[in-house]
Amino acid sequence: MKIILQIAATAALIASALPAFAGEAPAVPPRTYVVSGNIHVAVLENRNSVYLVGDNKVMLVETNFERNAAALANQIASVTPFPVKLIVNSHWHGDHIGGNKFFHDAGAISLAHVNTRIRMSVDQINPVINNVQLPAQKPEFLPMMTFDGKMTLNWGNERVDLIHYPDAHTDSDVVFYYRNNNVVYLGGMLEYPQYAGVYSPDGFVDAINKILAETNVNTKFIPWQGPVISQTELTQWRDIILLMKTRVGAMIAQGKTVEEVVAAKPSAEFDAKWGGGRTPARFAQDMYYVLTHGTR
Ligand SMILES: [Zn+2]
Repeated sequence: MKIILQIAATAALIASALPAFAGEAPAVPPRTYVVSGNIHVAVLENRNSVYLVGDNKVMLVETNFERNAAALANQIASVTPFPVKLIVNSHWHGDHIGGNKFFHDAGAISLAHVNTRIRMSVDQINPVINNVQLPAQKPEFLPMMTFDGKMTLNWGNERVDLIHYPDAHTDSDVVFYYRNNNVVYLGGMLEYPQYAGVYSPDGFVDAINKILAETNVNTKFIPWQGPVISQTELTQWRDIILLMKTRVGAMIAQGKTVEEVVAAKPSAEFDAKWGGGRTPARFAQDMYYVLTHGTR
């Protein structure tokens, strides 16, 4: 009973603390803005590419869809005359890597976690909905350099720590800490305000807890989709993942099928505000899958 009461209290707290937001995430027109110092965000199709202008060169994180690569390059060129020398992919999903060839052709080198290159090299099947999530990519799209664990880039006056968090949104997720400006880009892990794409709930929550421990109340968190947020919002967002894990886990323990879990609407009180991107049904379906099969 105590646990149930705590869950109910947490749910009420999260629901009351959320900003008013109903229905689908609005389409954001292409634009570019400064987050802090020389750290910029270019927004195309609601997706945030983060670019850092160094002394005479640009480091770009996320190349968006292939169809948006030229527009992304134009946005950057509207801010700085310096060339994009380095591109980095936070993970292997198609909207993060589609412009790689375009920027390679323009002279950039590229970097990603080793699992990103491995995943991009062969067809990726999504077992939850049984479709080809990403076909094997041609060599000219693959990251040239890979790393595992952690690495540091010194770019102009900024130090950028790249840290891999295993088993969160994928097995390849890299988070970017722009230390001198106290800015963090969470890659595909965070879309706000939307439900998380969960590869492993425990890994995901562990990653967010570690990110919270590395940061402070003044840190600016850039999501893959949506506006810059604070620790308070990131904490609330993590708690929804925890709550869904508890609720769907309890239904699985009762022997419910995935159809019954989806029909029970386990995220109901959040759906008006959070269900506009990844649908509530998909959130429940993904959670059911990972809790019954392990990672997907
Ligand atoms: Zn993704």
